[in-house]
Amino acid sequence: MRHHVQVIGAGLGGLSAAIHLRLKGYDVTIFEKNHEPGGKLSRRYDAGHYFDLGPTVLTMPFVLEELFKAAGERLEDHITLHPVEPTCRYYWSDGTAFDAWGEREKLLEEVARCFPEDVNEFRRFLGDIARLYEATKDVFLFSPFRGVREFFSLRNARLAPMLGSLGFTQTVHRSLERRFHSPKLIQFLDRFATYNGSSPYSAPATLNVIPHVELAFGAWYPEGGMYRIVEVLTSLAESLGVKIHLSSEVEGVGCEGKRITSLTVNGVRESSNIVISNVDALRMWKHLLDPAGLPIPTRLEREERSCSGFLMLATVEKVGERESHHSIFFSDHYRQEFNDLFETKSFPSEMTIYRSVSSVSDLSLTVEGEENWYLLVNAPARPELFANRVRVEKYSEMVLRRLEAFNQHPTVRSLSVMTPLDIEERYASLDGAIYGSASNSIFSAFMRQGNKVKGVENLYMVGGSVHPGGGIPLVLLSGKIVAQMVESL
Ligand SMILES: Cc1cc2nc3c(=O)[nH]c(=O)nc-3n(C[C@H](O)[C@H](O)[C@H](O)COP(=O)(O)OP(=O)(O)OC[C@H]3O[C@@H](n4cnc5c(N)ncnc54)[C@H](O)[C@@H]3O)c2cc1C
Repeated sequence: MRHHVQVIGAGLGGLSAAIHLRLKGYDVTIFEKNHEPGGKLSRRYDAGHYFDLGPTVLTMPFVLEELFKAAGERLEDHITLHPVEPTCRYYWSDGTAFDAWGEREKLLEEVARCFPEDVNEFRRFLGDIARLYEATKDVFLFSPFRGVREFFSLRNARLAPMLGSLGFTQTVHRSLERRFHSPKLIQFLDRFATYNGSSPYSAPATLNVIPHVELAFGAWYPEGGMYRIVEVLTSLAESLGVKIHLSSEVEGVGCEGKRITSLTVNGVRESSNIVISNVDALRMWKHLLDPAGLPIPTRLEREERSCSGFLMLATVEKVGERESHHSIFFSDHYRQEFNDLFETKSFPSEMTIYRSVSSVSDLSLTVEGEENWYLLVNAPARPELFANRVRVEKYSEMVLRRLEAFNQHPTVRSLSVMTPLDIEERYASLDGAIYGSASNSIFSAFMRQGNKVKGVENLYMVGGSVHPGGGIPLVLLSGKIVAQMVESL
């Protein structure tokens, strides 16, 4: 056995790093403050209903498959994934409904039905974003990223002349407005910027790779609910010999010079060799590194936080058969919604609502005659706004009232709410931001916290707040990248 590695946090990034490092022969211990692993990939049961609490969509399933393959296992022997079709149904308040499909021809037929004036350009757009993905994936997703110098390195010299076409110089929204006529098609594509907590009106058009990832690789759902992903990853880690200590908060870090020498876990000092943090990057600096004499990089402190989420979990009387697991009910004032989220940092007065009803994909997740509704709206990264219970109740009522504009009148039998304050406390995500920093500037891809922490010799970071970014496949990749970096020490 070579070095010992300590991982702080059993989110997906931490679990992935632990598995990859164990496979390379390291002795790995994870300390997780919560009583169960998985971080934001969490779930709740309520009167026989299963509710996802965080992610509801798995994209790029091949990343999970490859992780199991690396361990000599077949993913399908552990978990059954089903494609979700349509990937999502989008509604507007004028009664328009549009289905997105992973199947290319069906998607084009639907675009031709709803937005005939844009169908040829949409076909070209799909080709362009596929090329964008191919051109950028190795630099921005699958490899370590060391900032601007990485982009202009000899290895990536072919990318520099493509700077314009990669979309760094215009926003997502502007790039779409220049190509398409239909405001609804633009709004459908704009929404993908929120997949990493950003605004389409500020984020660079490079984020147009996100619809490629969902539309080309599909949206998937595991039998038994999203938490099955955590269960199979945890079993894999433990079967390989990773030690996972739950209810074990890392409360302090001991340093000698620029090296972490110990972690304090539940009051006990554990000496350190190599440390991997799966904690939200800014939170790690503010609460653990700065107090140990390792000051926060100013750049990181200044970055805008990604948005948070206001989540409502409702058991609802079932009325008829539902065709779509995922639905979006768009705001009529989309720009205003992002202005509220990122400029005034207030409750959006007219919110876009995302609904996931997982019982559509797996009937065993609900009880007869009822449905398990997960309603998510974007919220500003200001947890203090949600400390007032009356306000939270009023906002929940506003969300349900807004659904009436789409002829949705659910009979709600029980309701629980998770606010940005809960997200901050439960997952230690500073300000309740789901993805660390937002990508609301053309420089954000270059500014994101790297996986090797500069100025701390034996510290690495994984997870949604660091390279390559948030979302299940990317945080799994961050664990793989860090394992490669540690091995090449
Ligand atoms: C509402 C919501 C919806 C989402 N929807 C999707 C989706 O549909 N598809 C998708 O791909 N992604 C989605 N995401 C994003 C996805 O969940 C995250 O990007 C991913 O799960 C984050 O993983 P992570 O590795 O960053 O760890 P996290 O989930 O952030 O976990 C970090 C872990 O570290 C622990 N920790 C923190 N501090 C300490 C400490 N001091 N000591 C010990 N342990 C500590 C925490 O308790 C936590 O368990 C969603 C997220 C949310 C919240």
